[in-house]
Amino acid sequence: QLGLEIERGLELSQFELHYQPKFDLKLGRFSGAEALVRWRHPELGLLSPANFILFAEQSDLITKIDHYVLEKVCMQLDEWRGAGQRLLPVSVNISKRTLFTGNIINHLIKVTDKYNINPMLLEIEIVESPSLQDILLLLSIVKRFKNLKVKIAIDDFGTGYSSLSYIKKIPFDVIKIDKAFLDDVDIDQKARLIIQNIIELAHILDAYVVMEGVQDEKQVKMLRDMGADCIQGFYYSRPLPADQYQHFLEDNLFEIEAKKTTKRGRK
Ligand code: C2E
Ligand code: MG
Ligand code: MG
Repeated sequence: QLGLEIERGLELSQFELHYQPKFDLKLGRFSGAEALVRWRHPELGLLSPANFILFAEQSDLITKIDHYVLEKVCMQLDEWRGAGQRLLPVSVNISKRTLFTGNIINHLIKVTDKYNINPMLLEIEIVESPSLQDILLLLSIVKRFKNLKVKIAIDDFGTGYSSLSYIKKIPFDVIKIDKAFLDDVDIDQKARLIIQNIIELAHILDAYVVMEGVQDEKQVKMLRDMGADCIQGFYYSRPLPADQYQHFLEDNLFEIEAKKTTKRGRK
């Protein structure tokens, strides 16, 4: 029943994307956003991915959702460009099933052509997979994305079984450290040291480090001192509907300081 409803929901465009800004600590400005899917269910209201992604991942439905999301992002970038709005890269979550069986590369070429979107505006987020056998297949897919100039991120880094062997073998551009690592940083020196070391490890591999789930200023300061590149979390903003996200980019307190500095520089 749920499967049929999801399919119908996709046909009726009941799925919408919210965009969560990512703040680049070194540039002092927002450098991109993550697209996160929500289902505007006619009876149940706005449903978060927890309500349907795991279910969808049991079948090819997830591929339909992921393809839909990727096309919607291209459509949205085209719309923002048309309206002369700020265009920052957008990252899209792609499930393993979609990567391995969904012909995602062809779909990406198709939708970037259709909306005339530079693939450099897209980033793909992949959650690590427990099976080592998948590594070779994943590696070949990642290389194809990279040839198209699409960046690849490993999402929820550190939560799987194979993190370390993974990041050495697969040339990820971005490492997103799982928010669980922040859980007890305030009280636990070991928790802080682990984050610090993941950041250093990522930098050894020339990856850009995003810390997800950051909720307060103290954490931002700590992560800046540790050399993290970028922060995503409720501290800056929750995921926002497209129009609110653009308003946020136009008018937010976080970039004011950076703007002041550029103006001073120009004078
Ligand atoms: P994710 O890719 O790790 O996305 C980050 C999640 O953390 C989002 O939850 C976001 O709202 C939440 N988050 C961001 N900042 C904070 C914070 O400061 N504190 C806390 N507690 N949470 C924060 P969301 O939107 O519910 O998405 C959950 C997961 O669903 C995503 O985790 C991703 O794995 C999956 N997902 C979302 N959209 C898609 C999609 O289009 N396709 C696929 N395959 N999966 C998706
Ligand atoms: Mg993600
Ligand atoms: Mg994540």
